[in-house]
Amino acid sequence: MSLRSNPPGGSIFQRDRSLAWGLAGLIFFGGLLLTLGVAKVISGFYQHQLEQRFAAVAGERASTMQARFDAHVADLDGVRRFFTNADQVTRGEFAGYVDGLPQRAFSYAWLPRVTATQRGAFERRVRASGIADFQLRELAAGNALQVAGARAEYFPVLFIESTQMRGDDVLGLDVASIPQRGEILQRAERSKAMAVSGELRFVAASARQTVGLMLAAPVFAVAGPAAGESLRGFLVAAFSLEQLLHEQERAEDPLHLSLELRDSSGLPGQALRYRSTYPPAQSALQLNRELRLADRRYALSIRPTEAFMRANSVPLPALLLAAGVLLSLLLALLTYNLASQRQRAQQLVREQTAVLRQRETELARVNGQLRGLLDAVTQVAIIATDCEGLIRTFNVGAERMLGYRAEELIGLHTPTLIHVPEEMEARARLLSERLGRPVSGFEVFVAETQGSGYVEQEWTYVRRDGSRLPVNLIVTTVRDEHGQRVGYLGIAIDITEARLSRQALEARDRLLEKLTANVPGAIYQYQLRADGSSLFPYASAGLRNVYEVEPEAVRLDASPIFERIHPEDLESVRRSILKSAERLQPWREDYRVLLPRQGLRWLRGEASPERLEDGGTLWHGYLSDITGPKLVEQELRALSITDSLTGIYNRRYFQERLEAEIARARRNPHSGLAVVMLDIDHFKQVNDRFGHDAGDQVLKSVCRRIHQRLRTIDVFCRLGGEEFIVLAPTSSEEQAASLARALWEILRNEPMEGVGLVTASFGVTAWRTGESAATMLSRVDAAVYQAKQAGRDRIQIAD
Ligand code: GH3
Ligand code: MG
Ligand code: MG
Repeated sequence: MSLRSNPPGGSIFQRDRSLAWGLAGLIFFGGLLLTLGVAKVISGFYQHQLEQRFAAVAGERASTMQARFDAHVADLDGVRRFFTNADQVTRGEFAGYVDGLPQRAFSYAWLPRVTATQRGAFERRVRASGIADFQLRELAAGNALQVAGARAEYFPVLFIESTQMRGDDVLGLDVASIPQRGEILQRAERSKAMAVSGELRFVAASARQTVGLMLAAPVFAVAGPAAGESLRGFLVAAFSLEQLLHEQERAEDPLHLSLELRDSSGLPGQALRYRSTYPPAQSALQLNRELRLADRRYALSIRPTEAFMRANSVPLPALLLAAGVLLSLLLALLTYNLASQRQRAQQLVREQTAVLRQRETELARVNGQLRGLLDAVTQVAIIATDCEGLIRTFNVGAERMLGYRAEELIGLHTPTLIHVPEEMEARARLLSERLGRPVSGFEVFVAETQGSGYVEQEWTYVRRDGSRLPVNLIVTTVRDEHGQRVGYLGIAIDITEARLSRQALEARDRLLEKLTANVPGAIYQYQLRADGSSLFPYASAGLRNVYEVEPEAVRLDASPIFERIHPEDLESVRRSILKSAERLQPWREDYRVLLPRQGLRWLRGEASPERLEDGGTLWHGYLSDITGPKLVEQELRALSITDSLTGIYNRRYFQERLEAEIARARRNPHSGLAVVMLDIDHFKQVNDRFGHDAGDQVLKSVCRRIHQRLRTIDVFCRLGGEEFIVLAPTSSEEQAASLARALWEILRNEPMEGVGLVTASFGVTAWRTGESAATMLSRVDAAVYQAKQAGRDRIQIAD
């Protein structure tokens, strides 16, 4: 697109691109925020779920533990009640009862109270019941057993049911003698309720030490505690911690909890402290519960393990986050794409709209201008038609010229209304003949403009009132920007005035033509331009006679005329023309021309000059052939300066020439000027002896002989009678003397036919600076006289 090259357009695109980027960024970050929000909500939800699940699982676990504790207590209490209710419990009954317990402890034992006085009988009775080596024992160093020392009372193991050890090994062992165990029994006796030990280490059958607890329940006689000596013994249960705390962890469905149990009751004995082997996960989740086992309280703290977190964690937020980010990114890209495309499209539309609007405005402006222009031209009719000749525009000029109003003619066909039908038909006929096909009506203009797209013709319009009007009509084909013909434009100018003045001019031309045709010579206008060139704007037909040139040939350039002028006269003609132009004085010149047909002719030109505005000069004049009168004049002239007898120049001409030569010598003193004068000796006698005619013949012969010897520039004249003179321009006295000698010899060397020798006396002199013709002549005359005096037939140089 062309507008793209516009700097503003470029910056708009830049702006749009950043806008699109901004929008895309906004969408992206919005999407991201939304994703984060949703993720947070979902995460919160799942966190809550997790907390609930943890609370449920951990709570259940704690409750289960407490229930287990309670169950163990209840079990032992059950055994105790069994002992209380029965007077005598046998080993078998004890074993049977314990076996029936649903969740068995590590071991159950019955420790009867045996006083020192009862010891012997007791040992014997037990040995009698089948345990051969039974005796009361106590724990010695290194965990070995030895026979119990003497004490006030003993609590030996009588019955023992253990899953982990052989009960026989500890039969008879006085539990009260074991430091940590004895204290529990005392506490149970004191409180008359169940007591629990601190953390104990049991030695199992496998010799593996097991950490655990011992639960002791005092058994009193039915008579009740008030009877005093009614303590019958203790029932004890030993639990390994593992058993106590772990037994409900199912391998196939682990709870993945991390437990911590701490004795918080502050009772004697090593306080129990248990931790799961699974470390807790990094989590705020925690369940604290207080558990009770007989007289002890335990702080139970349950925390989730990594396994729990894993098993209960939901990968959804992360997935959701990833999907959200991806979706936001895609959405942003899509937005960017859409926004930039939309903006590009909008920009394009904006630009195109602007261009169209500008064009529209421009068109309206041009239309307005055109309309104004058409109407402003009131002296010219402007009529536009479509291709078929239907009038579309009819301007004010046309309204004035034809008397119609535009509304009356627009939409109608032009030729039939405003053209003279006969003229139209005549033109159509001519055109049909020329083109060899029928042409009529408006087709005339279509055909005429076919080639050049333009035709200019004179037509006659018919006004509304029927009167006629000659016009000069220019019809032009109108084409659109693709060169397609869309109509015709006719521009008509009223030529009534022009036609009248043209007719008047033509009449005057004809008159002039007639007048000049009968005038000898030529009437002309000659124009000299400021640049020196010249022409004959007008020349009558007579120019063909006087110059043998067509008037047309010199209308623009006068050169052909000047080529006809005699070379010897050309310069003086040019000079006289310039002089006339310069002084604005009438020009008059006689000069010769050399014509192809008539040969040498004399012409006389006479003209009056006037100055032109451009600095040139215009002459109006008359040219005539004066060859005839000129010849007469020349003849007369020749006669007037020629001696009729001898044919040489006469005294008058000599006088003229002498004056002219002296004038020249005055201008150029070194050129020289001399004369040789001669007088025939005793000529009177020739006449007298041979007659006057013979005398004439002698005169002619003398002249002939002398003439042959002279230079062309010498002027030979008869001064009168038998006196002659030679005017020798450019000659010195010496040169003239030698000329005289030559002439003297010519005469005396050869006698005249029928007359004999004829001699002459010569006088020679040169012009002296400043003297007049008369002075010079009288001096040479005197020289001739001296020659006569001296005896004739000689040459005398003037003094
Ligand atoms: P000089 O030696 O002293 O000059 O003697 P001259 O006879 O020549 O002298 P003069 O001047 O006395 O005579 C001139 C004569 O020339 C007189 C005249 O009859 C004659 N003459 C003059 N004009 C013509 C002419 O046209 N034709 C003839 N035939 N004779 C002429
Ligand atoms: Mg003489
Ligand atoms: Mg003489």
